[in-house]
Amino acid sequence: MTDYLEDNLGSRILETRSPQETYELGRSIGEKAAAGQVYCLDGDLGVGKTVFAQGFAAGLGIAEPVNSPTFTIIQQYEEGRLPFYHFDVYRIGDVEEMDEIGYEDYFYGDGVCLIEWSELIREILPEEAVRVKIEKNLDKGFDYRKISIEM
Ligand code: ADP
Ligand code: MG
Repeated sequence: MTDYLEDNLGSRILETRSPQETYELGRSIGEKAAAGQVYCLDGDLGVGKTVFAQGFAAGLGIAEPVNSPTFTIIQQYEEGRLPFYHFDVYRIGDVEEMDEIGYEDYFYGDGVCLIEWSELIREILPEEAVRVKIEKNLDKGFDYRKISIEM
């Protein structure tokens, strides 16, 4: 993994060249995650959001397999250092569906939230959320990913 650069807005930019590197980056961030944090994870389909989430979960000490909760919107894991709430809102039709699942208890609770496709529910995201954006750049290779993290 390439050392991070800091841009002038204070966001960290990292580059990975394999799924393992993205997983390890997720893990190192998960290891430092604190209760009450919300991580927003955006980027196109197949860019590596779930790979990152799997590493992140491992960093929280979760051993069971983590997959995209696409059909359930949220999957919770209680076995780690902190409760982990993994959202994938890709299939959400309306942000009101978030009210139906009682999202505020998760966003403003004592666990850690990670939300794949957070842009689709941007109107309810907490302002202090951490933003993680993953992008491809095919000029740099099929497995290249640029990952920007704004704390
Ligand atoms: P998403 O959740 O964003 O839709 P996934 O994490 O499910 O995407 O899938 C990412 C795919 O891209 C996997 O097949 C993974 O092996 C592949 N991949 C290739 N290079 C990378 C990389 N640098 N980081 C993450 N995933 C990568
Ligand atoms: Mg996914």
